[in-house]
Amino acid sequence: MGLPQVLEAMEAACRRAGRDPEGVRLVAVTKGRSVEEIQEKVLRYGPFPLGESRVQEALKKMELLEAEWHFIGPLQRNKAKFAPRFALIHSLDSLRLAEALDRVGEKVGVRLRVLVEVNLGREPQKHGFLEEELPEALARVREMAHLEVLGLMTVPPVGPEAVVRPIFRRLSELADRYGLPERSMGMSDDFPIAIEEGATLVRVGRALFVD
Ligand SMILES: *Cc1c(COP(=O)(O)O)cnc(C)c1O
Repeated sequence: MGLPQVLEAMEAACRRAGRDPEGVRLVAVTKGRSVEEIQEKVLRYGPFPLGESRVQEALKKMELLEAEWHFIGPLQRNKAKFAPRFALIHSLDSLRLAEALDRVGEKVGVRLRVLVEVNLGREPQKHGFLEEELPEALARVREMAHLEVLGLMTVPPVGPEAVVRPIFRRLSELADRYGLPERSMGMSDDFPIAIEEGATLVRVGRALFVD
Protein backbone atom coordinates (compact mmCIF):
# COMPACT_ATOMS: atom_id res chain seq x y z
CA MET A 1 0.00 0.00 0.00
CA GLY A 2 1.03 3.55 0.70
CA LEU A 3 -0.94 6.71 1.29
CA PRO A 4 -2.45 7.08 -2.22
CA GLN A 5 -3.71 3.49 -2.08
CA VAL A 6 -5.16 4.05 1.38
CA LEU A 7 -7.03 7.11 0.08
CA GLU A 8 -8.35 5.05 -2.85
CA ALA A 9 -9.53 2.31 -0.50
CA MET A 10 -11.19 4.96 1.70
CA GLU A 11 -13.06 6.38 -1.30
CA ALA A 12 -14.11 2.91 -2.45
CA ALA A 13 -15.51 2.19 1.02
CA CYS A 14 -17.41 5.49 0.93
CA ARG A 15 -18.91 4.59 -2.45
CA ARG A 16 -20.01 1.16 -1.19
CA ALA A 17 -21.63 2.78 1.83
CA GLY A 18 -23.17 5.69 -0.11
CA ARG A 19 -21.16 8.17 1.96
CA ASP A 20 -19.56 11.48 0.99
CA PRO A 21 -15.75 10.99 1.04
CA GLU A 22 -15.48 14.48 2.57
CA GLY A 23 -16.98 13.01 5.72
CA VAL A 24 -14.01 10.75 6.48
CA ARG A 25 -10.53 12.01 7.40
CA LEU A 26 -7.30 10.07 7.39
CA VAL A 27 -5.20 10.46 10.54
CA ALA A 28 -1.71 9.25 9.61
CA VAL A 29 -0.35 7.33 12.59
CA THR A 30 3.37 8.13 12.72
CA LYS A 31 4.45 6.54 16.01
CA GLY A 32 7.84 4.89 15.68
CA ARG A 33 8.50 6.60 12.31
CA SER A 34 11.31 9.03 11.66
CA VAL A 35 10.78 12.59 10.51
CA GLU A 36 12.26 11.63 7.11
CA GLU A 37 9.85 8.71 6.71
CA ILE A 38 6.91 10.94 7.63
CA GLN A 39 7.93 13.53 5.07
CA GLU A 40 8.44 10.94 2.35
CA LYS A 41 5.42 8.72 2.98
CA VAL A 42 2.83 11.16 4.32
CA LEU A 43 3.42 14.90 4.07
CA ARG A 44 4.53 14.89 0.43
CA TYR A 45 0.91 13.99 -0.36
CA GLY A 46 -0.62 16.83 1.64
CA PRO A 47 -1.11 18.27 5.11
CA PHE A 48 -2.61 15.20 6.78
CA PRO A 49 -3.20 15.20 10.54
CA LEU A 50 -0.56 13.09 12.31
CA GLY A 51 -1.41 10.70 15.16
CA GLU A 52 1.09 9.93 17.90
CA SER A 53 0.72 7.72 20.97
CA ARG A 54 3.63 8.94 23.09
CA VAL A 55 3.95 12.48 24.33
CA GLN A 56 7.76 12.73 24.33
CA GLU A 57 8.07 11.34 20.83
CA ALA A 58 5.36 13.71 19.59
CA LEU A 59 6.95 16.77 21.18
CA LYS A 60 10.27 16.03 19.45
CA LYS A 61 8.60 15.65 16.07
CA MET A 62 6.59 18.85 16.58
CA GLU A 63 9.84 20.80 16.60
CA LEU A 64 10.71 19.46 13.17
CA LEU A 65 7.39 19.07 11.35
CA GLU A 66 4.51 21.45 10.72
CA ALA A 67 1.26 19.50 11.11
CA GLU A 68 -2.05 19.12 12.92
CA TRP A 69 -1.15 16.73 15.74
CA HIS A 70 -3.57 14.22 17.25
CA PHE A 71 -2.92 12.20 20.39
CA ILE A 72 -4.20 8.62 20.11
CA GLY A 73 -2.53 6.65 22.92
CA PRO A 74 -3.07 6.35 26.65
CA LEU A 75 -2.35 9.76 28.19
CA GLN A 76 -0.84 9.78 31.67
CA ARG A 77 -2.24 12.45 33.92
CA ASN A 78 1.22 13.84 34.62
CA LYS A 79 1.49 14.59 30.86
CA ALA A 80 -1.87 16.36 30.69
CA LYS A 81 -0.08 19.72 30.56
CA PHE A 82 1.04 18.90 27.01
CA ALA A 83 -2.52 18.31 25.76
CA PRO A 84 -2.93 21.85 24.36
CA ARG A 85 -0.24 21.00 21.80
CA PHE A 86 -2.69 18.56 20.17
CA ALA A 87 -5.66 19.51 18.00
CA LEU A 88 -7.57 16.45 19.21
CA ILE A 89 -7.14 13.88 21.99
CA HIS A 90 -8.71 10.62 20.74
CA SER A 91 -8.17 8.67 23.94
CA LEU A 92 -9.97 10.18 26.91
CA ASP A 93 -10.31 7.02 28.99
CA SER A 94 -11.01 8.03 32.60
CA LEU A 95 -12.75 10.73 34.61
CA ARG A 96 -9.53 11.48 36.47
CA LEU A 97 -7.82 12.23 33.17
CA ALA A 98 -10.81 14.37 32.14
CA GLU A 99 -10.48 16.38 35.35
CA ALA A 100 -6.75 16.86 34.78
CA LEU A 101 -7.34 18.00 31.20
CA ASP A 102 -10.13 20.34 32.28
CA ARG A 103 -7.75 22.02 34.74
CA VAL A 104 -5.10 22.38 32.05
CA GLY A 105 -7.65 23.90 29.68
CA GLU A 106 -8.71 26.34 32.36
CA LYS A 107 -5.13 27.34 33.11
CA VAL A 108 -4.24 27.90 29.45
CA GLY A 109 -7.62 29.46 28.66
CA VAL A 110 -8.70 27.01 25.96
CA ARG A 111 -11.30 24.30 25.45
CA LEU A 112 -9.49 21.06 24.70
CA ARG A 113 -11.11 18.88 22.06
CA VAL A 114 -11.50 15.25 23.04
CA LEU A 115 -13.02 11.96 21.98
CA VAL A 116 -14.19 9.54 24.64
CA GLU A 117 -12.67 6.08 24.26
CA VAL A 118 -15.02 3.11 24.64
CA ASN A 119 -13.75 -0.42 25.33
CA LEU A 120 -16.52 -2.13 23.38
CA GLY A 121 -14.64 -5.42 23.21
CA ARG A 122 -14.46 -5.42 27.02
CA GLU A 123 -10.80 -6.43 26.92
CA PRO A 124 -9.13 -6.01 30.33
CA GLN A 125 -5.81 -4.90 28.79
CA LYS A 126 -7.48 -2.17 26.72
CA HIS A 127 -8.29 1.36 27.74
CA GLY A 128 -11.58 3.16 27.67
CA PHE A 129 -14.96 3.21 29.38
CA LEU A 130 -17.17 0.15 29.33
CA GLU A 131 -20.37 0.72 27.44
CA GLU A 132 -22.47 0.81 30.60
CA GLU A 133 -20.18 3.48 32.09
CA LEU A 134 -20.56 5.74 29.07
CA PRO A 135 -23.79 7.65 29.90
CA GLU A 136 -22.46 8.79 33.28
CA ALA A 137 -18.96 9.49 31.93
CA LEU A 138 -20.29 11.57 29.04
CA ALA A 139 -22.59 13.54 31.31
CA ARG A 140 -19.70 14.36 33.63
CA VAL A 141 -17.24 15.27 30.89
CA ARG A 142 -19.79 17.40 29.08
CA GLU A 143 -20.15 19.48 32.25
CA MET A 144 -16.46 20.35 32.20
CA ALA A 145 -16.16 23.88 30.86
CA HIS A 146 -12.71 23.45 29.32
CA LEU A 147 -13.35 20.23 27.44
CA GLU A 148 -15.28 19.86 24.20
CA VAL A 149 -16.43 16.31 23.48
CA LEU A 150 -16.58 15.84 19.72
CA GLY A 151 -17.14 12.11 19.53
CA LEU A 152 -16.21 8.56 20.45
CA MET A 153 -13.22 6.35 19.73
CA THR A 154 -12.66 2.61 19.93
CA VAL A 155 -9.95 0.02 19.32
CA PRO A 156 -11.67 -3.33 18.67
CA PRO A 157 -10.22 -6.73 19.54
CA VAL A 158 -7.95 -8.21 16.90
CA GLY A 159 -10.15 -10.48 14.84
CA PRO A 160 -12.00 -11.15 11.61
CA GLU A 161 -14.70 -8.98 10.09
CA ALA A 162 -17.39 -10.84 12.06
CA VAL A 163 -15.76 -9.54 15.25
CA VAL A 164 -14.86 -5.98 14.29
CA ARG A 165 -17.86 -4.95 12.17
CA PRO A 166 -20.44 -5.19 15.00
CA ILE A 167 -18.10 -3.19 17.24
CA PHE A 168 -17.75 -0.39 14.69
CA ARG A 169 -21.51 -0.43 14.15
CA ARG A 170 -22.09 -0.16 17.89
CA LEU A 171 -19.74 2.82 18.22
CA SER A 172 -21.70 4.64 15.51
CA GLU A 173 -25.01 3.84 17.22
CA LEU A 174 -23.69 5.21 20.50
CA ALA A 175 -22.33 8.36 18.84
CA ASP A 176 -25.74 8.89 17.21
CA ARG A 177 -27.54 8.35 20.49
CA TYR A 178 -25.46 10.99 22.24
CA GLY A 179 -25.47 13.43 19.33
CA LEU A 180 -21.72 13.22 18.78
CA PRO A 181 -20.44 13.84 15.24
CA GLU A 182 -17.01 12.17 15.31
CA ARG A 183 -16.30 8.40 15.32
CA SER A 184 -12.60 7.52 15.42
CA MET A 185 -12.29 3.88 14.40
CA GLY A 186 -10.46 1.70 11.91
CA MET A 187 -6.73 0.97 11.51
CA SER A 188 -4.60 -0.56 8.73
CA ASP A 189 -6.33 -3.93 8.75
CA ASP A 190 -9.93 -2.81 9.01
CA PHE A 191 -10.39 0.86 8.03
CA PRO A 192 -12.65 0.04 5.02
CA ILE A 193 -15.05 -1.83 7.33
CA ALA A 194 -14.96 1.04 9.81
CA ILE A 195 -15.85 3.50 7.05
CA GLU A 196 -18.76 1.31 5.92
CA GLU A 197 -19.97 1.46 9.52
CA GLY A 198 -19.70 5.24 9.90
CA ALA A 199 -16.10 6.19 10.82
CA THR A 200 -15.34 9.89 10.43
CA LEU A 201 -11.65 9.55 11.44
CA VAL A 202 -9.56 6.49 10.54
CA ARG A 203 -6.21 6.03 12.30
CA VAL A 204 -3.93 4.31 9.81
CA GLY A 205 -0.24 3.63 10.43
CA ARG A 206 1.43 0.56 8.93
CA ALA A 207 -0.39 0.64 5.60
CA LEU A 208 1.09 4.08 4.85
CA PHE A 209 4.67 2.96 5.29
CA VAL A 210 4.96 -0.40 3.51
CA ASP A 211 6.45 -0.32 0.03
C1 LIG B 1 -0.78 2.23 16.33
C2 LIG B 1 -2.19 2.66 16.42
C3 LIG B 1 -2.98 2.80 15.26
C4 LIG B 1 -2.48 2.46 13.86
O1 LIG B 1 -2.39 1.06 13.71
P1 LIG B 1 -1.87 0.41 12.34
O2 LIG B 1 -2.20 -1.01 12.51
O3 LIG B 1 -0.40 0.71 12.26
O4 LIG B 1 -2.63 1.06 11.23
C5 LIG B 1 -4.28 3.25 15.41
N1 LIG B 1 -4.79 3.56 16.63
C6 LIG B 1 -4.07 3.43 17.75
C7 LIG B 1 -4.70 3.78 19.05
C8 LIG B 1 -2.75 2.99 17.68
O5 LIG B 1 -2.05 2.85 18.82
